[in-house]
Amino acid sequence: GQSEEEIVTPIAQEYAASYRDIPVAIYQIGQKYRDELRAKSGIMRGREFGMKDMYSFHETQEDFDRFYEKAKEAYLKVYERCGLVAKVTEASGGAFSEKLSYEFMVLTDAGEDDIVYCAACTHCANIEVSKAKEGDACPKCGKSTLAKATAAEVGNVFDLGQKYPKAFGYTFKDKDGNDATPIMGCYGIGTTRLMGTIVEVLSDEKGMVWPASVAPFDVHLVSLAGGNADIIAEADKLYELLREHGIDVLYDDRDVRAGEKFADSDLIGIPTRLIVSEKTISQGGVEVVARASGTTTFVSDSAIIEQLAK
Ligand SMILES: [Zn+2]
Repeated sequence: GQSEEEIVTPIAQEYAASYRDIPVAIYQIGQKYRDELRAKSGIMRGREFGMKDMYSFHETQEDFDRFYEKAKEAYLKVYERCGLVAKVTEASGGAFSEKLSYEFMVLTDAGEDDIVYCAACTHCANIEVSKAKEGDACPKCGKSTLAKATAAEVGNVFDLGQKYPKAFGYTFKDKDGNDATPIMGCYGIGTTRLMGTIVEVLSDEKGMVWPASVAPFDVHLVSLAGGNADIIAEADKLYELLREHGIDVLYDDRDVRAGEKFADSDLIGIPTRLIVSEKTISQGGVEVVARASGTTTFVSDSAIIEQLAK
């Protein structure tokens, strides 16, 4: 539950009063505040955090089930694009529902949940609700034994049934003109914790490694000018060229040592680093370093935009 059910249900009641108006899904992305007793691990668990939450209303259980599966698949794609492998995990419905809910778990020691999962199929359950324990045969496929792992919850989906519509007296007119109570679901992605999880899972000993899909910038432009006006001018020119082509650039034009610039660049973890120096200018191009692999290539000035578009 994302705890905005009491806000959203009356809104749906107002705007979706007929079977023609549903299914309908409403979402928002915003900050949430909780009096978190166990605030810890930086942005992994804080008293203020970003959350995407969505609520859906359906005429029939079948339609809800269809949408629920679709939402789960969409969430898995979101995590995949963030460079993560998330497991759909059986969990308790908590205070919001008596039914099972599903959490999206990413394996990382920085997480706070313990899960058991099967390596041979998709079965995965939070230890709090799992009847099977580590070493037991998988209850779904039976082909493997369950392994235990620590994981971070980066999202969840709940089948809320008719709890909130009933509590608010929300009914819609069905095809025959009778009053019917909709079935409700809610769906959340913890955007702040997702960032923390990406950092935990994808970082290396030098710092963060942002996947291009969520990186704050496309390119980190590093000039090694040493006060040389020609090199500064070349780097400035490249900066403008990149921006003209819609490329988001973090430009390090500080007058500090190369080693310091590279260390900071590694730490910040923008996917692609471009280096402009006396050497690269004399060769008519720039050095391109991929943060994730460390691969360095030399690209001529005329080919740089095309190269970055790949
Ligand atoms: Zn299995």
